[in-house]
Amino acid sequence: MMMAKERIFLSPPHMSGREQFYIDEAFETNWIAPLGPNVDAFEREIAEYTGALGAAALSSGTAAIHIALSLLNIGPGDRVFCSSFTFIASANPVRYVGAEPVFIDSEPQTWNMSPEALERAFEDADREGRLPKAVIVVHLYGQSAKMNEILAVCNRYEVPVIEDAAESLGSTYEGKASGTLGKFGIYSFNGNKIITTSGGGMIVSDDEEALSRARFLATQARDQAPHYQHSVTGYNYRLSNLLAGVGRAQLQVLEERMKARRTIFENYRAAFGELKGIEFMPELPNTRSNRWLTALTIDEEEAAVKISDLLQALAADNIEARPLWKPLHLQPVFEGSRFYPHSETLSVSERLFQSGICLPSGSSLSLDQQQRVIDCIRRSLGKVANPAR
Ligand SMILES: *Cc1c(COP(=O)(O)O)cnc(C)c1O
Repeated sequence: MMMAKERIFLSPPHMSGREQFYIDEAFETNWIAPLGPNVDAFEREIAEYTGALGAAALSSGTAAIHIALSLLNIGPGDRVFCSSFTFIASANPVRYVGAEPVFIDSEPQTWNMSPEALERAFEDADREGRLPKAVIVVHLYGQSAKMNEILAVCNRYEVPVIEDAAESLGSTYEGKASGTLGKFGIYSFNGNKIITTSGGGMIVSDDEEALSRARFLATQARDQAPHYQHSVTGYNYRLSNLLAGVGRAQLQVLEERMKARRTIFENYRAAFGELKGIEFMPELPNTRSNRWLTALTIDEEEAAVKISDLLQALAADNIEARPLWKPLHLQPVFEGSRFYPHSETLSVSERLFQSGICLPSGSSLSLDQQQRVIDCIRRSLGKVANPAR
């Protein structure tokens, strides 16, 4: 009888063992509430690691984007430009505050926001007298966007940048931490991210006053008064002291986790990089990607494989692999939103979505497990052109 093969996940949590120490300490001191010494320490440690002046710990990356938009006083009638090639959480908060998202395509070198498309979007918005109140730039799969070019356009129009660095903690751009180049940067510690608190997020900035306000808004916006008094609408968005303890232990192994994911990427590239029709996500010079997920595109004709067949073969082998993010301008929930393609004739994000997949990339992936993925893909490639193989 065949034994069911062990499941290989895309990006499962990878604990170091040290997390339990912080959890036990929180229990022993009864710091179970949201807030507490782990939260303060985790904020300091993230600020130190990234080089940002400060950080505020929140319940999720999505909450962090929501808070960033609130700090910029964005509301109904306002526009926000946002990368289209990303996970839905990048843009949902734009809707939470009642603003209108305008989606910007990717460019081929980083797969992230196209400065050319951004420029055209700004020119139109300027002509209409409706500039955006913020631009949300995503650094997908760990690769930083072309920040110099993007910041140059945004600075010219004096529009602040929010970096959605949920997938790029540990990555750098010209030596600076991804997430520290704009007005605000956000990180996620969701279960699938490079380090995790099971659920959690962080906002970083050099504007300490804004970060104090972030903490205020995230704890129900309670005014200074002996009784409970509130003058603005707040949220219950703070990270719990227990989870911040998990985050502290995870941060201590972030560099190791990054090394492991980069090695996994290199192993996949060594296995398939020479094959016709397969291209791995590039790494822009002067940037370092944490290679959160190994992402690649497949030319179905050249590689002689149907992507749907390949995904099916992987699934049949109990291996989790996924298509790349479906661009937000194609999502039913954002139907009717404006979209600026990279050029008048080319939508890079649509092409990536049609041709790309990501492979199991968790830092705990063993060599044997990775070999299983590689063997499964090898068996599928070349099937269409040469069925005898
Ligand atoms: C995971 C993720 C988020 C959201 O983070 P949560 O902590 O899950 O709310 C936002 N943007 C991107 C690009 C992500 O991958």
